[in-house]
Amino acid sequence: MNCFNHPEKHAVGICKACQRGLCPDCAADLGHGLACKERHEQEVSALHSIVDQSRRIHSVTPRTRNAAPFFYGFMGLVFAGYGLFERGSMINLSSVMGMGFIAFAIYIYIYNKKIYAAQV
Ligand SMILES: [Zn+2]
Ligand SMILES: [Zn+2]
Repeated sequence: MNCFNHPEKHAVGICKACQRGLCPDCAADLGHGLACKERHEQEVSALHSIVDQSRRIHSVTPRTRNAAPFFYGFMGLVFAGYGLFERGSMINLSSVMGMGFIAFAIYIYIYNKKIYAAQV
């Protein structure tokens, strides 16, 4: 393959944005890939930072995955406890909402577990 801008020169790589062949004069080495000099440098940098960001979010998620079920479970206990101790029974709006929260928390917890078990 030859350079897109200089058909007589051999390409050393391909621009990540437009997939064209680039010779050393046309290629900008961004450290993580090549880009057309002064044409696609910004696009390729942006592309890289998006990929990098999603990778970082992904690696953090497993550690925080139990935050949501924990939160809903806690809310559920507060509501159910309030209904039980203030009204003396589980048959009231507060307790029913609490049970709903707890069921939801268990559902998220199991759902998360399945997803991350499949990934790891
Ligand atoms: Zn390009
Ligand atoms: Zn060139």
